[in-house]
Amino acid sequence: MDQTKEQEEDYGYSLFPERKKSKYKKGSLGESLFTYKNKCQMMLHFAVETSPYAKLLLGAMKNSGCAVYKDRHFSCEDCDGTVSGGFDATTSQIVLCQNNIHQQAHMNRVVTHELIHAFDHCRAHVDWFNSFKHLACSEIRAANLSGDCSFTNELSRFNFGLKKHHQECVRSRALRSILAVRKVSREEAEKVVDEVFESCFNDHSPFGRIPHSKKEAKFAYRDFEGRDRYYANL
Ligand SMILES: [Zn+2]
Repeated sequence: MDQTKEQEEDYGYSLFPERKKSKYKKGSLGESLFTYKNKCQMMLHFAVETSPYAKLLLGAMKNSGCAVYKDRHFSCEDCDGTVSGGFDATTSQIVLCQNNIHQQAHMNRVVTHELIHAFDHCRAHVDWFNSFKHLACSEIRAANLSGDCSFTNELSRFNFGLKKHHQECVRSRALRSILAVRKVSREEAEKVVDEVFESCFNDHSPFGRIPHSKKEAKFAYRDFEGRDRYYANL
């Protein structure tokens, strides 16, 4: 997908895939915008209703006084390049890249990843813009807990490995995320990630453990619900 950008000189039109499409199918621009947005919103709806990762995070945020509303805090948009999503701290909104998310499993992961940033933002008042360490920590947590590095995802990338491999995956994905949003050198980013890695990798809140699979996320969600009920009865 990235290669097309280099292969053809398109005067920036690679940033607007839907305009490109209209070149081939006249008059379909409005229609394709409609379906892209709709598909994105439907997949988002399905994610927040059925993904145990998302449900746990939404519950935890509600408990922390940061209730998330699907219509207000999520926005399906077209994005540049191959970005899948982002968390806009200034508006507390999660951006979902409707042009780059085509499968439900991908949507579930992006929603979870960005909800972890939103959770960190809610609980810790993260200083995203001035503290590089805060950003690095949240990226480590998002890569670690969202299933970005779960076994099947890794398998599909032809990376076989053991326990240590999960850590390496988390480290490299966190680095990649930081380099995508901050103009810093790779060395600088690596230094900060290493500084905070140990404590942020071991901070599993609100999951209580690393949910390596959907099944484990379901167990974590069940525990979370139990915890919630327990406190409600006090
Ligand atoms: Zn991230």
